[in-house]
Amino acid sequence: MAKPVIFSIDDDPSVLNAVERDLRSRYGQDYRIIPINSGKAALEYLKKLQQRNDTVALFLVDQRMPEMNGVEFLQQAMLVYPQAKRVLLTAYADTEAAISSINDVGLDYYLMKPWHPPEERLYPVLDELIEDWKMHIRMPYQGIRIAGTLWSLPCHEVKDFLTRHQIPYQWLDIEKDSEARQLVEETTSGSSKLPAIFLPDGRVLVQPGLKELAEVVGLQTRAELPFYKIAIIGSGPAGLACAVYAGSEGYSCIVIEKAAPGGQAGSSPKIENYLGFPSGISGDDLTRRAISQAKRFGVEIISAQEALEVCVKDEYRIIKLADGTEISCHAALIATGASFHMLPMPGGDKLTGAGIYYGAAYTEAMYYKDKQVFVVGGANSAAQGALYLSRFASKVTVLIRGSNMTASKYLVDALEDNEKIELLLNTDLIELKGDASLAQIVVKNTVRNEVQTFDTAALFVFIGVRPQSQLVANLVRRDEKGYIYTGTDLMVDNKLPQDWPLDRPPFLFETSVPGIFAAGDVSFGTNHRVASAAGAGAIAFAMMKEYLKTL
Ligand SMILES: Cc1cc2nc3c(=O)[nH]c(=O)nc-3n(C[C@H](O)[C@H](O)[C@H](O)COP(=O)(O)OP(=O)(O)OC[C@H]3O[C@@H](n4cnc5c(N)ncnc54)[C@H](O)[C@@H]3O)c2cc1C
Repeated sequence: MAKPVIFSIDDDPSVLNAVERDLRSRYGQDYRIIPINSGKAALEYLKKLQQRNDTVALFLVDQRMPEMNGVEFLQQAMLVYPQAKRVLLTAYADTEAAISSINDVGLDYYLMKPWHPPEERLYPVLDELIEDWKMHIRMPYQGIRIAGTLWSLPCHEVKDFLTRHQIPYQWLDIEKDSEARQLVEETTSGSSKLPAIFLPDGRVLVQPGLKELAEVVGLQTRAELPFYKIAIIGSGPAGLACAVYAGSEGYSCIVIEKAAPGGQAGSSPKIENYLGFPSGISGDDLTRRAISQAKRFGVEIISAQEALEVCVKDEYRIIKLADGTEISCHAALIATGASFHMLPMPGGDKLTGAGIYYGAAYTEAMYYKDKQVFVVGGANSAAQGALYLSRFASKVTVLIRGSNMTASKYLVDALEDNEKIELLLNTDLIELKGDASLAQIVVKNTVRNEVQTFDTAALFVFIGVRPQSQLVANLVRRDEKGYIYTGTDLMVDNKLPQDWPLDRPPFLFETSVPGIFAAGDVSFGTNHRVASAAGAGAIAFAMMKEYLKTL
């Protein structure tokens, strides 16, 4: 935590030096003493302190200064740091000004020059003021602060990214917090771009890309080496399980992640059916554990780096990344999982992040305290989302297309026992309304053929997933939905596919291109569970090992 600041401001260098010396000897251990020779320069400095969220305990300012006198300075400074104590350093002739400024700027004290000996004439006064300041000040948050609005997609993405990386931050809603709004206006020179991110060292990022943000907060976004024995694309349970085994057996291994580690599992508030965790485990806890395990075994993990394409050159498998660089390896695992379908109706795109969230209950729930929200979907993820949201929202209504939920029984029981949750069966979402943010949804009961409109602050979408396999669309065999065929699923009429180039059959989890494997939700025939994905990732590694022996 940065030390609070004591300012001394005087245009006379000899007085400034003397004040600084006395302040430092008494308060230097607990406070930063900042001497400045003009009011204007001090005001500029205050802006920097404000961006870093530093605190000011006291201004000790000379009344007689050219350009801006002490009282004029305090008038400005108190707008920025209203709780700081204000002491004017005066000559006898300035007594009148000092007395009248007691009311004008809430002056706490005026000190006559000279103040020697300080033990008698300076410290007792300042000690008392500082003690009083300490009693009333609430120390500010010293970490990353994100200022924006709840209705902005870039704000949501940044919050989600940091949450998923377990990087703490403070959220400042500029629609509710006028100080935050003013800070943003001053630092972004009126730009309408949000969010503004205030870093503890004083730097400010305005609507950064995830890669820029990742680099600034110290995450690895680039590979250290040009070649790895094993490269894994996607850091959900499948990718991370493969990485842990590869690392533990001493293989050079890299995991490439386009967003933040954890995959879909990382967005789960509570996974209750994963072996070994009888009271459940949150997705971010599971991710944190898996990442530490993989890193302990020497695996490199890069985030905010999308793999765009995979190609083959001799015995090398080459991964082309969004920043134009390439990583080559001998065996690659596609563990890119699946993502939720976007709502197929007008307004869906425009309002994404502005009241409509895809599988993001975990990041956003707390901002909907005491509000009424809706969830779409009837499977496990929707049920978990609804339960988590009910901890904050006043009411959660779940829209289910079918006549019952398909979620596991323990989740359906929990939903039915929860007084804040209402289930609307046989219900289709047909329209989204809102300009800057979601305001209303229109739904239709398909049995009664009845249309209803609801006001809502937010809609959390957990409907059908699609595989994220575009990066190998022109390389490996996939089904019509995009799921990647592997192992025996590649066989046609019990025969190897015509384009399979080897005499041996494909290994388990090997795709139609030797040396390229796929596991987890992106592969054909998966059951979309954390344990299945982790198991598949582990077996895929065993098969990659076999493949590497053939090179
Ligand atoms: C909200 C929610 C709750 C769930 N709850 C449960 C539960 O309680 N129990 C259970 O068993 N299952 C649950 N599931 C399902 C489970 O999370 C998934 O089956 C599992 O995460 C699949 O793992 P995966 O590794 O195959 O893929 P994913 O978890 O989807 O991970 C894939 C990763 O690859 C990354 N990626 C994609 N494309 C690229 C690219 N081109 N370049 C780089 N990276 C890329 C993605 O960003 C993602 O991080 C839940 C799912 C959700 C969404």
